[in-house]
Amino acid sequence: MPFSKLGLSDALLKSLAEQNYTEPYPIQQQAIPAILKGKDILGIAQTGSGKTAGFVLPILQQLQDGVSTKNRHVRALIVVPTRELAIQVNEVFTTLGKHLPRPIKTMAVYGGVSINPQMIGLQGVEILVATPGRLLDLISTNAVSLSAIKILVLDEADKMLNLGFKEEMTKIFELLPKQRQNLLFSATLSDDLNNINRNLLRDPLVIKVEEEIQNLDLIKQVAFTIAEEKKGPLLRYLIREQNIEQVLIFTSSVHRTDAVTLKLNQNGINAIAIHSKKSQDARNQALELFKSGKVKALVATDLLGRGIDIKYLPYVINYELPRSPKDYIHRIGRTGRAESSGEAISLISPEEEHHFKVIQKKMGKRVALTDGNEINLKGY
Ligand code: AMP
Repeated sequence: MPFSKLGLSDALLKSLAEQNYTEPYPIQQQAIPAILKGKDILGIAQTGSGKTAGFVLPILQQLQDGVSTKNRHVRALIVVPTRELAIQVNEVFTTLGKHLPRPIKTMAVYGGVSINPQMIGLQGVEILVATPGRLLDLISTNAVSLSAIKILVLDEADKMLNLGFKEEMTKIFELLPKQRQNLLFSATLSDDLNNINRNLLRDPLVIKVEEEIQNLDLIKQVAFTIAEEKKGPLLRYLIREQNIEQVLIFTSSVHRTDAVTLKLNQNGINAIAIHSKKSQDARNQALELFKSGKVKALVATDLLGRGIDIKYLPYVINYELPRSPKDYIHRIGRTGRAESSGEAISLISPEEEHHFKVIQKKMGKRVALTDGNEINLKGY
């Protein structure tokens, strides 16, 4: 089915063609017509499913048809858990809204950077993508009002709850007008989230995308058992021997992220760290350098690993395993996306072997273990 069958305007179809989006993804096929009709949506989907364009396109179209707002009264609000996701979603609005006959101003606001430019920038904004804390700060200084909101999107709502945004989300809900359309996206449905759904959504269309399973088939999974102290040399060996040009490496802590990055650089492999202790500017810059190929390795903690969308990422390496099997799937899901295959490599210390078995069981897939201690790592 082509996009033109979904009821989108010529201006939006033109942007889609420019992006080489030939066919809507399953979630888009279902969500776009329903959102255009004003229905609430509960989307069980994650990054990689195409959910962003699934809500961006119909929101642009709906706001295009309406009247422009009073200044600083945004009409669509997208609440997201992280700054990176805020920037990313805003970019999709900008890209897909490029040809609209009446330009619609969109903006991303998030904490960790100075609030003043955001206060000034909110002039005339109709679509706002925001993290919860900074949004509340901006409301309290009257830089923005939510009283004219027509559409609310909660993106990665499960993660917002995990990151402890529940109280802030409740405050935001209280400031919204009662009459509005609600779109909620989440990778999973917890009890907490179900409560929010019940209070928030009116007779929603439920869309479930089994993205994790589809994705896993595209991913070649490899695992090495290796002594903890040899993980560094094995990592460098793999990057060099497999001629890896772009790799996302996951560790379990900020401290380890910095340590792995330092060691890679000392050994001539260009690497940069991204984690919550870095300033927003440094995080944006790290992501940019990595995406543009100027830096070979991006070393990250789980928080930053989810939600980051990098097209055709060929390799993901788990320097350490994550605690939850779900996070393992999210991590390796950074590769093998958008119909291109990828490889996920895990370095398993003796202490992690049992945990890796648990992960494989939960995932429903077995990964062959290679003994990394047998590899000659001299010189790495
Ligand atoms: P998302 O799940 O929204 O983060 O999107 C995942 C990736 O799929 C992004 O890189 C999008 O640019 C891409 N994408 C979304 N919709 C389409 C489509 N219909 N055709 C091709 N690529 C798409």
